[in-house]
Amino acid sequence: QVETLKAKLLEQAQEIGRLRSELGGTDAEKHRDLLAAENERLRQEMKACERELWELRQQQQAPCRDCAHLQENARLQEWLSQLQREAEETRAKMAELDLEVQQKTNRLAEVELRLKDSLAERAEEEERLSRRLRDSQETIASLKSQPQQIKYIIKTVEVESAKAKQALCESQSRNHYLQEQVGMQRQVLKEMEQQLQSSQKTSAQLRAQIMMYEAELEQAHGQMLEEMQVMEEEKNHAIEEAFSRAQVEMKAVHENLAGVRTNLLMLQPALRTLTHDYNNLKRQVRDFPLLLQETLRSARAEIGQAIEEVHSTNRELLRKYRRELQLRKKCHNELVRLKGNIRVFGRVRPITKEDGEGPEVANAVTFDADDDAVLHLLHKGKQVSFELDKVFPPQASQEEVFQEVQALVTSCIDGYNVCIFAYGQTGAGKTYTMEGTAANPGINQRALQLLFAEVRGKAADWDYAISVSAAEIYNEALRDLLGKEPQEKLEIKLCPDGSGQLYVPGLTEFRVQSVEDINKVFEFGHVNRATECTNLNEHSSRSHALLIVTVRGLDRSTGLRTTGKLNLVDLAGSERVGRSGAEGSRLREAQHINKSLSALGDVIYALRSRQGHVPFRNSKLTYLLQDSLSGDSKTLMMVQVSPAEKNTSETLCSLKFAERVRSVELGPVSRKAELASWPSQEQLEVTKGLPVPFLFLSPRALPSRGHTSPGPGQLSGRAASIRRKLQTSG
Ligand code: ADP
Ligand code: MG
Repeated sequence: QVETLKAKLLEQAQEIGRLRSELGGTDAEKHRDLLAAENERLRQEMKACERELWELRQQQQAPCRDCAHLQENARLQEWLSQLQREAEETRAKMAELDLEVQQKTNRLAEVELRLKDSLAERAEEEERLSRRLRDSQETIASLKSQPQQIKYIIKTVEVESAKAKQALCESQSRNHYLQEQVGMQRQVLKEMEQQLQSSQKTSAQLRAQIMMYEAELEQAHGQMLEEMQVMEEEKNHAIEEAFSRAQVEMKAVHENLAGVRTNLLMLQPALRTLTHDYNNLKRQVRDFPLLLQETLRSARAEIGQAIEEVHSTNRELLRKYRRELQLRKKCHNELVRLKGNIRVFGRVRPITKEDGEGPEVANAVTFDADDDAVLHLLHKGKQVSFELDKVFPPQASQEEVFQEVQALVTSCIDGYNVCIFAYGQTGAGKTYTMEGTAANPGINQRALQLLFAEVRGKAADWDYAISVSAAEIYNEALRDLLGKEPQEKLEIKLCPDGSGQLYVPGLTEFRVQSVEDINKVFEFGHVNRATECTNLNEHSSRSHALLIVTVRGLDRSTGLRTTGKLNLVDLAGSERVGRSGAEGSRLREAQHINKSLSALGDVIYALRSRQGHVPFRNSKLTYLLQDSLSGDSKTLMMVQVSPAEKNTSETLCSLKFAERVRSVELGPVSRKAELASWPSQEQLEVTKGLPVPFLFLSPRALPSRGHTSPGPGQLSGRAASIRRKLQTSG
């Protein structure tokens, strides 16, 4: 089947060739394309045939036990191999016979040669013998003629007596001798005759042998002819069979060809339409570039116009956006003013493992599902409700808390002073909210990151410098947490220039530019704080920790300078230790804490009621934050509470404090901006030693200040190394 298909394909290809030549002969130009298409189609068909072929091959390869074709095939193959075997045998037999004939011919030639030789020999012998015979006969004849002579001699003897007698004797002996000779000759002749006879016999024998050989040869020849006849017949038979088979196949191929011809005839109209279509397409393709160019031109023009329109719309939108932005800022400030400059948030921490177990740690705080500013506390069986600006439930994340705070943080870029306090009893979550954990940082780090991002966004028009200081107030003593001498008590002084501004001589200020800088500063502050006390946890709960971020900006186009301060304060624990009978240093600590926290309350109260005298000086904390608490500033009090039953009385106190603070109204917010030139870093260095405005110290200026330049031995090794790193990065 495979072979048939192959032959079919070949036939088709030939037919195509023929058709092609026919077509080409009539009108080559016209049909060339047509032929190409036809060619393509036939190629496809050929591919299909090849596929079919492949499938058939696969089928052939696949085992097919009961297939009649297979059996027939096997039978035929067997028969073929048998025929081949027979032919092989016959061929071998023929070769054998050929060999035999050859041998026999050789022998015959030999025998003939020998025969010829012996015949020649015999002829020679006969010749010789006849010669001798002739000689002998001659001799006999001569001898026969001799006795008359002897008679004569005898007669002579009779006449001549003695002489004759002697001569007679001699003649007699000679006669005797001659008779002997004749006898001998006769003997020889006899022998010769015998020899001749034997030769003749041998010759007859040889002739008979030759006859026999010839008969044998004849027989072999006949046999050979017979075998050849048989083989000829077989060959003819095989040829006939092959011929009939070929005829059958030819017939099939002819039928196929007829099919292909009809196919071709059917395809010709399709080819004609295809040619027509093709010509149409060609025309279209020829015209396409022109059409495309035309379309492109118009599209370009349209796009250009559209872009122009979009540009003008964009410009308009940008103008509107800027106006809206300004409006929004105004509205925001107005809103802040209306809401009050003091915002009070409450944050309830979750109940933790440290709270222990039992009825004492039952949850005593509940929330209002519809109002996120209301919180209910169950205290001694009574439910007390508080309304703050916002309440964060235990599940509120650091991110969510910071989102509410970030507007305040960014306002310090615009030149406002901001204070964020974390208030509450120890363990209520103040430090968690302000500092957070490494994996989940609190307001401090997030605020600085936000400031960096904001400053980067405004870098096109503004130059900003962000610097940080860290301080601690413990027992009413102010200490620099980033200084070389953290144990040294710092003083808050009034600027002698009469501006009324405060400053802390010796308070370190680091310029920060990245999160890495902030982390180094925080780490440095922690290390300093830890080296100063035996139990950091206890110590930190009895001292106020301040992170003071100063943002100084310069608008390059207008020369406007702004200075905003962000004070992030983790207050000491608000629990009322003094009342529970503490003594000694513990009592002193508690008194100081109470004093400073109530001073904070008093200051806010005085500000709210717009009293002429605000008792800022009553505590170090309020005195230090005077700038950031007075009229033009914004304050956020984050009141931290524990939800546990055992803490309800402290929670009640904290919430009462929150409510009191919330009702206080600071004066209208104003932006602290001035057009006066602001000292550059170099100018700051030149003015070192002179009283500079509060916190306006460059880190590079610090080491030269006499009272803040201790020897390296005064710092712990780790603190000194961090400080070194900071100075190089700052
Ligand atoms: P404070 O500084 O007021 O003494 P902390 O911030 O040290 O209190 O918090 C006390 C414990 O409660 C800490 O272990 C802290 O991780 C945990 N904590 C406080 N607030 C939260 C909160 N919102 N979510 C999870 N854990 C908190
Ligand atoms: Mg704390």
